[in-house]
Amino acid sequence: MSDEQFDLPHNSPVQPTRLELEDKIKFRCHKDISCWNQCCARADVTLAPYDIIRLKKHLGIDSTEFLAKYSVPFEIDAHGIPGIKLRTDDSGACQFMTDQGCSVYEDRPTACRYYPSGLLSMRALGEADDEQHFLLIKEDHCKGHDEDNIITIADYRKEQGVEEFDELNRDYYRIILKKKSTGPTIGAPSEMSLQLFFMASYDVDRFRRFVMSDAFVKMYDLTDEEYEVLEKDDVELMKFGFILMKQVFFGEMEIKEREGAWEKRAEERREILEYRKQAEIAEYEKKQEEARKAAIDSGTEHAED
Ligand code: SF4
Ligand code: SF4
Repeated sequence: MSDEQFDLPHNSPVQPTRLELEDKIKFRCHKDISCWNQCCARADVTLAPYDIIRLKKHLGIDSTEFLAKYSVPFEIDAHGIPGIKLRTDDSGACQFMTDQGCSVYEDRPTACRYYPSGLLSMRALGEADDEQHFLLIKEDHCKGHDEDNIITIADYRKEQGVEEFDELNRDYYRIILKKKSTGPTIGAPSEMSLQLFFMASYDVDRFRRFVMSDAFVKMYDLTDEEYEVLEKDDVELMKFGFILMKQVFFGEMEIKEREGAWEKRAEERREILEYRKQAEIAEYEKKQEEARKAAIDSGTEHAED
């Protein structure tokens, strides 16, 4: 086990030791344990993009409805990168908790699968890739640590089905990590790019409508086959969203833009703005005319008195 120590708040439930895949933990959770459901009764679960795809499919609703009913937003960093957590009821319990346990168990989020370990993604200064390490979370109410079961982090991840989730969410974590580490050198993201990040990361069904829109098709040079895949496949669309965000945030140009598309769009926008300006002037002049007419009419009435 690594002896690296971290400076954590005094009362943090996180054991300040970095764990690697082959390190062992002593833990078991089962239905007959005295603390059954206590972790879900005070749930603080951050969601990643693939979590939402699995949960909305399980519930048979689209991502927009899922976000409205089951999520609350928060800001991941000082630049306002948006994140999503599971919404709890007024007592702090997860809405998916039942007496029998988790009602979405097969599709439960990554954070629930990891517990009581946690993922620690780090990117060393000057390194292109992130490193993954793990932490142990020990909370007083969780009696799983008293159980007589020794297991490696690698086996625990396998047992909980974490690997697929981590693999599919990896680029999302990388974007957040890179955004945090480049921060002020690239500058604060625009409001529009933050909205795009939210839609591409969490609201996959709305993102699909955006990708299929005329404006998008005019801008990006994708083949019909590529559009067909994005129209049908949530996971492929999510991956495409990560590529688009790398393009928007860091200028990594992987998606081909149509020649002259930006200039054409700027020209169209200029025309729209000019049209709006003219319409506003016409409306203003109409109101002025009406006001003048009303003033003349009222003056005529007084004169007649
Ligand atoms: S999703 Fe399931 S495992 Fe996760 S907090 Fe809710 S009830 Fe518990
Ligand atoms: S052992 Fe820990 S993870 Fe399992 S039910 Fe109890 S509090 Fe939750």
